Amino acid sequence: MSEKTILVWFRNDLRIHDNEILLEATQKASTIVPVFIFDPRYFRETIFNTKKTGGFRAQFLLESVADLKKSLQKLGGDLLVLQGNPEELIPQICEKYNVNEVYHHREVASEETDISSKVEDALWKKQINLKHFIGHTMYHKEDLPFPIKDIPDVFTVFRKKTEREGIIRPAFESPQKITVPKDLEETTLPSLEDLGAEHNRTDHRTAIKFKGGETEGLARLKYYLWDTDLLKTYKKTRNGLIGADYSSKFSAWLSAGCLSAREVYWEIKKYEQERGANDSTYWLIFELLWRDYFRFMFKKHGTQFFMEGGFKGKENEHAENQEELFEKWKNAETGIPFIDANMKELNLTGFMSNRGRQNVASYLVKDLKVNWTWGAAYFEEKLIDYNPASNWGNWAYVAGVGNDPRENRHFNIEKQADDYDPKGEYRKLWLEN
Ligand SMILES: Cc1cc2nc3c(=O)[nH]c(=O)nc-3n(C[C@H](O)[C@H](O)[C@H](O)COP(=O)(O)OP(=O)(O)OC[C@H]3O[C@@H](n4cnc5c(N)ncnc54)[C@H](O)[C@@H]3O)c2cc1C
Repeated sequence: MSEKTILVWFRNDLRIHDNEILLEATQKASTIVPVFIFDPRYFRETIFNTKKTGGFRAQFLLESVADLKKSLQKLGGDLLVLQGNPEELIPQICEKYNVNEVYHHREVASEETDISSKVEDALWKKQINLKHFIGHTMYHKEDLPFPIKDIPDVFTVFRKKTEREGIIRPAFESPQKITVPKDLEETTLPSLEDLGAEHNRTDHRTAIKFKGGETEGLARLKYYLWDTDLLKTYKKTRNGLIGADYSSKFSAWLSAGCLSAREVYWEIKKYEQERGANDSTYWLIFELLWRDYFRFMFKKHGTQFFMEGGFKGKENEHAENQEELFEKWKNAETGIPFIDANMKELNLTGFMSNRGRQNVASYLVKDLKVNWTWGAAYFEEKLIDYNPASNWGNWAYVAGVGNDPRENRHFNIEKQADDYDPKGEYRKLWLEN
């Protein structure tokens, strides 16, 4: 191993397992400098009068970073935790610890790639290379049966060919030992106040008490597969609305990278071998493929996903009083119990089921005729599991300006409530307490 120092820049990959940048850095360098930076741009107000990161997700992020720091310490290392702009801080850290190269996982959405471009430029001036890795999806983009620009805009077409011809690489092993500079500065985590984030108390009716970090994410994976066999019935239960177990609840850990999607895939494969495969075990992989898909779509269509016309460039109809209607939707005051119950759950817990999300999004766009990007920005603030591709990709889909091949799909909210909440238990839970 050469006398080399590599800076490992953690972003949305807050884990030790299946983490190529961490493993390769420990293999290629004698010393590594693991860094996480709380960037103030992620905690500011947006043009939509929302916050980029609300209190629930900020808390989850703090817990995830704390867990990562602890795990790195257990391996003999540590994590530098800083607050500021990465393009200013990373070159400074490089100077201080004589860093030769910086590693990070490439992101897909424009704000994230703008930041890494700025870091790359700043490092370039110091003749230090920023090496990009791919590490957020099950499928590595190079193992897909098409280049990104040719990925079909219809999911089913993408899925069929990918399932037939794509391969999923094995997960990376975890490093056994981390060596950091002897004089590595001791740092502590900021508080919610330092980040400018609010304290949100989670309502006791929450579907699940999310706690950030790889340790909790891996524990949830073990629970859902091995301890309870819930995976075996996932396809039947996944459209549920109440409680921790109707779906995997992996999303928040996947979004922060506390769980690797590829690790989840291989664990499901192991489960299938040991306890049997069925349509439920397949269906969780199917849903994870949606997650991959939206990420690849972001790579293909770029910022168009943030525009109201989407990549279809469609005109949308707006109600004259859309501002007023939007306020009612946000505040769970539409008068439609199924919508209000879901919005209340989101506001008080930072989570909403997939069924709920489909309905409230469709209702905002198709019934209230409000600009869908406002709803997406509101979800961005509130959701614990927010990530740009899954959120904006799904919103564009529901709004009919993204990947939905069917024209004018419109949820009948009353029918949805009857089908998925036949006894009204979910509505009662959130509206009568
Ligand atoms: C309007 C709207 C906005 C959404 N915003 C987000 C978001 O910001 N972050 C996010 O992770 N998911 C988002 N989703 C997708 C989905 O609702 C959540 O991933 C899911 O409800 C999380 O619960 P779970 O982990 O128990 O899901 P499960 O049903 O157990 O699914 C397993 C995993 O598959 C992935 N997945 C499932 N459905 C989808 C989907 N439609 N699109 C992409 N990935 C999917 C997730 O990673 C999920 O954790 C959104 C859906 C809609 C309709």
